[in-house]
Amino acid sequence: MDNLQKLSRRLINENQVVCVETLKVKNMIRNPRLAKHIADASWGELVRQLEYKTEWAGRQLVKIAPFFPSSKRCSDCGYTLESLPLEIRSRECPECKIRQDRDINAARNVKAAGLAVLALGENVSHG
Ligand SMILES: [Zn+2]
Repeated sequence: MDNLQKLSRRLINENQVVCVETLKVKNMIRNPRLAKHIADASWGELVRQLEYKTEWAGRQLVKIAPFFPSSKRCSDCGYTLESLPLEIRSRECPECKIRQDRDINAARNVKAAGLAVLALGENVSHG
């Protein structure tokens, strides 16, 4: 809990805009292979803290829907894989051949999607 407070405070202090993927935490916890991972990460609580802290600090929080293919899409060329099993932690893009860490690639996609949403002028920070 203390770590989550520190993390959310740091993210808000260091960034004007924070983009998060709103994972379907409840569904994922029903999957026993994912449950421990997701519960440990306390994703829902982190998003909740980011929501009120962005408001206090006058920052912007952009939430990206869970169906967005953040892991399957190459953040470099946009090529999207049919599927990407969770145990695969890094992959080479079949199109542009770049090698990417799964989570860093997903983070780059979520950021790009979040900035695109802001550029369109849609305020999704409270939805
Ligand atoms: Zn690529």
